[in-house]
Amino acid sequence: MRYIDADELLKHTIPVYGAYDDSCEFEAVPVGYVKGAPTADVAPVARGRWINDDGIPGLYRCSACGIVDHREPKHRYCPSCGARMDAEGGGQAHAESKA
Ligand SMILES: [Zn+2]
Repeated sequence: MRYIDADELLKHTIPVYGAYDDSCEFEAVPVGYVKGAPTADVAPVARGRWINDDGIPGLYRCSACGIVDHREPKHRYCPSCGARMDAEGGGQAHAESKA
């Protein structure tokens, strides 16, 4: 997978007429701009959440890597795997801009 800057591509839209009928008009980005767009500077970001599923008060486990943490207040990021602890329903990885 390659990430590209959608905002940059939107600077290259062109009007398209008559794709469905003569009254239809919309904008499109030529495929050449998409293929030639530079890869955006992004890094994968893991997401998780602190879960207390052992029934032990004050003992939480990272949903992304499973490390146990007992500190309060809970960290915004897992000190073990670096997951951002704001996921709903479990941890997932996605890309986030480094900018
Ligand atoms: Zn973790």
